[in-house]
Amino acid sequence: MIGAGGSAFAQTSPKPEPGVIRGPGTDGPIKRGTAPGYDHPDQYIGIPGRKIADNLEPVIEHPDQFDEARKKLAEIEKKTGKKPNIFVFLLDDVGWMDFGFNGGGISVGASTPDIDRIASEGLILTSAYSQPSCSPTRATILTGQYPVHHGILRPPMYGEPGGLNGNITVAELLSKEGYVTQAIGKWHVGENEGSQPQNVGFDDFRGFLSVSDMYTEWRDSHFNPEVALSPTRTAFLEEVPFNKYDVHAVKGGKIENVGLITVDYIKDLDQRWADYGVEFLKKQKGSAKPFFLYYGTRGCHFDNYPNAYYAGRSRARNSYTDCIVEMNDIFARLYKTLAETGELDNTLIFFTSDNGPEQEIEPHGRTPFRGGKGSTWEGGVRVPTFVYWKGMIEPRKSEGLFDLSDILPTALSLAGKPGAALSGLVKKDHYIDGLDQASFLVAKNGNSNRRSILYFWNDKLSGVRLDEFKAFNLVQLPFAFTRNGNHGGFTGSVAETAGGTVFNLYANPQEDNSIAIRHIPMSIPLLSETDRYEAVLKKFPPRIQIGFQ
Ligand code: CA
Repeated sequence: MIGAGGSAFAQTSPKPEPGVIRGPGTDGPIKRGTAPGYDHPDQYIGIPGRKIADNLEPVIEHPDQFDEARKKLAEIEKKTGKKPNIFVFLLDDVGWMDFGFNGGGISVGASTPDIDRIASEGLILTSAYSQPSCSPTRATILTGQYPVHHGILRPPMYGEPGGLNGNITVAELLSKEGYVTQAIGKWHVGENEGSQPQNVGFDDFRGFLSVSDMYTEWRDSHFNPEVALSPTRTAFLEEVPFNKYDVHAVKGGKIENVGLITVDYIKDLDQRWADYGVEFLKKQKGSAKPFFLYYGTRGCHFDNYPNAYYAGRSRARNSYTDCIVEMNDIFARLYKTLAETGELDNTLIFFTSDNGPEQEIEPHGRTPFRGGKGSTWEGGVRVPTFVYWKGMIEPRKSEGLFDLSDILPTALSLAGKPGAALSGLVKKDHYIDGLDQASFLVAKNGNSNRRSILYFWNDKLSGVRLDEFKAFNLVQLPFAFTRNGNHGGFTGSVAETAGGTVFNLYANPQEDNSIAIRHIPMSIPLLSETDRYEAVLKKFPPRIQIGFQ
């Protein structure tokens, strides 16, 4: 007789030998610590976070790493006589795989040798998360809050009111700790006076108040002939009350217009800002005060207009990849200035993007993951990120979870206010969603302090990630209504899942094969994590500034 599985041996039913059973659960109760296998030190699905203050998120603590990091920070402060400089280099709409350090770079036609080298000398974060689009992420970096708490759920466009509106920012908190605070480049977290950089903690600002396409798309007869070749429609746009200039402002002062941003002017805009950045860094040489530089590039948000030097400079020769090459050079120039001024050893650099590639307008960036800008698929929110600090951060790659909301608490930690100390710097009813990750970055082989990533679709929870497991409540469907043309995060519809949509991001980074029912045990912690945050939202309710209502 042949067995059901087709094997002639199936009828013999051999008795299991020790070591060949498929799991300890078949052999009576398991004692903690006796299960076979290996625990990776930065996987926390089976470990609860610890609440350290009422208005802060729970953390995964590593006391030894915390002590080691504080010791290293104290030593360097003794040597330099000041707290470390903090430099955030924030790209626009650039995908996880655009740079060589994540497998892109020359292999996708855009060499990024300087960025790749500096990344390889720092900590490359393979699971760093933004929000799905520009303004929500930028406000998250500046406030340390998720969009439900800072209230900017989508980008304000063409002079719409609303924005940061006096919210507490990292610049304001660092100013109080004695930092010089400088913002350069793209702002896009509110044009109204109360939201402008010089009124939310920055000593000085040079850049534009909104987003690249808004200055040029209606002027360009190639992209928008319907407007640009109509005198009446052009006049209408000229009269829409939004600022159309490259601007400058100093703390407490008014915005001054530097130059009208036309299709011609914008070609050199990133170079103009880089000049300003280099001048700022030169001024900081040997300063008794540390600085916080928040630098948002114009590139490579559509529309990219390469200048005479960069046109065709990338192997792929399209305007997007030419821009990536220009971004490499600009980052290298700022880095080199830090080295020349002697400040590099005392500067922590965060390199990241504000969201994944915008997939509705070509040419655009790349991601190996599903989806793009505007969605909570990994492609929309997992961003190319590294943290560099010469001699202080050990070169390595980590899959530890990092959310861009962590930048504010981490910056404050470097400035001498670690962990729960942040709670006392803001009002009791002000919730901070970011965590202090200083020990993750600075301790040797430091591990993330973050247990989960929460994904938001506007003001609603869209999903949660713990370790390699991601559960979805709301998904974005770019092909819901349209069969033709480009599809990305702002096209289509959003749908509720039936409750059984869980992906294993290691087995299935494309998120197209749900393993929820096979892996119900892992759904338990995923669901309790969203329940936990729903309770936070009851206590610290959403405060919507710019939404879809
Ligand atoms: Ca963006």
